Amino acid sequence: MIIKNGKLALPCEDEWKKLDIRIQGEEITELGDDLCSEDEMIDAEGLLILPGGIDPHVHFDEPGYTEREDFYYGSSASASGGITTVIDMPCTSIPPITSRENLLKKLNIIKKKAIVDFGLFGGISSQSFEGDFARDMEELLESVLGFKTYFISGMPDFGRLDHYQFREVLKVAKRLNIPVLLHAEDYDYVKRATEVEMERGNSWINYYRTRPEVAEVLAVQSAVQLAEEIEADLHIVHIGSGEAGEILRGRDRITGETAPHYLEFDCNDIERIGSALKVTPPVKSPENKQGLWNLLTDGVIDFIASDHAPAPEEEKNTGSVWSDYSGIPGTGTLLPYIFARGYLAGRIPLRRLLEVISESAAKRYGIYHRKGSIEVGKDADLVLIDPERDWIVRGDEFFSKGKVTPFEGMKFRGKVVKTILRGRVIYDDKEDIVVEPGYGKFLKKD
Ligand SMILES: [Zn+2]
Repeated sequence: MIIKNGKLALPCEDEWKKLDIRIQGEEITELGDDLCSEDEMIDAEGLLILPGGIDPHVHFDEPGYTEREDFYYGSSASASGGITTVIDMPCTSIPPITSRENLLKKLNIIKKKAIVDFGLFGGISSQSFEGDFARDMEELLESVLGFKTYFISGMPDFGRLDHYQFREVLKVAKRLNIPVLLHAEDYDYVKRATEVEMERGNSWINYYRTRPEVAEVLAVQSAVQLAEEIEADLHIVHIGSGEAGEILRGRDRITGETAPHYLEFDCNDIERIGSALKVTPPVKSPENKQGLWNLLTDGVIDFIASDHAPAPEEEKNTGSVWSDYSGIPGTGTLLPYIFARGYLAGRIPLRRLLEVISESAAKRYGIYHRKGSIEVGKDADLVLIDPERDWIVRGDEFFSKGKVTPFEGMKFRGKVVKTILRGRVIYDDKEDIVVEPGYGKFLKKD
């Protein structure tokens, strides 16, 4: 296949380059001027071509919670938004991915349904400490890209770690040379604040006050302290507080991610938008948004992720801010959001756009040998975008099972026209998903 006349975003380049792409089998084999071939040709005149996006934080909920999402719907949503690789979290499937046996069960089910390539995170919960958690980690090592942990958890089957347990996990991860991912909110603070604020009543600002900036700052500080002492690799997921993100500055082994909802919304919006913006951690006070944009541009926050975690309407709107499901669909809007509001809006330059949507996550999780950039010899994972086309976010048009989105009605410039995974078109905006379920492959680190 040859893709002609598009403008490419190449690693470490600040400008788009007009070059043709030759794809043979699953790989990019040549970048050059005026390439020709007898085979299939895609004319990308007027289109921009980015490396396929990586969404390194999704909850596709399978098996176990498929009324909320499953791997087919979730990965179709990814493809429709230019994402060609996802990494799925271990905690929102039954059983959770805390052992090799559980992972193999899950893999058997999801590998028949994936539209995009996928990696998995293992998980270490309080329950892991009832058995031999270090052995579980060793047995999972070859199949996972990191280990997810929580300082606070709303999931009965995937309990939080205390600081001592977290330190033990960091020690094993250090020995195995694999990152530990952390949901960083302070347990003590949130527990007491929740008791107090629930008494105060059913309002969104009370929900925000249960998990404000300081809850993140306390957790990130203690996690960083523990990780640096051990010299372990730590990654802080979904940072919503600028001050918490700032703690990562200048620390090589410690990385972080944020999500579009933290860049776009604040705690004033949640009164207006309601449950469609209920996420954990919640969106913070307004000044955090600029702080997070700055950290993302500077590279202190390494990349973005969607934290895609949808739920049906009836779970999202229960009548109480305390029981409404916390989580939103986001994998389909992740790349379009950062392209429009980050790159086109002039907040982040082209070379940084490539890092935050693809390259940095690929490097962090050991899949950069195949993914994360447009280069000869790598997988032909590409997204073709029409930069002149505006489109409006409509939840009921999402490929995800989740339709309730805080981005409802927002206009984005830049429409994904085609998504290509390992040399095959998987999404075409005129024809929808054009590949059979199961085309997406399971990824391991190099
Ligand atoms: Zn999550």
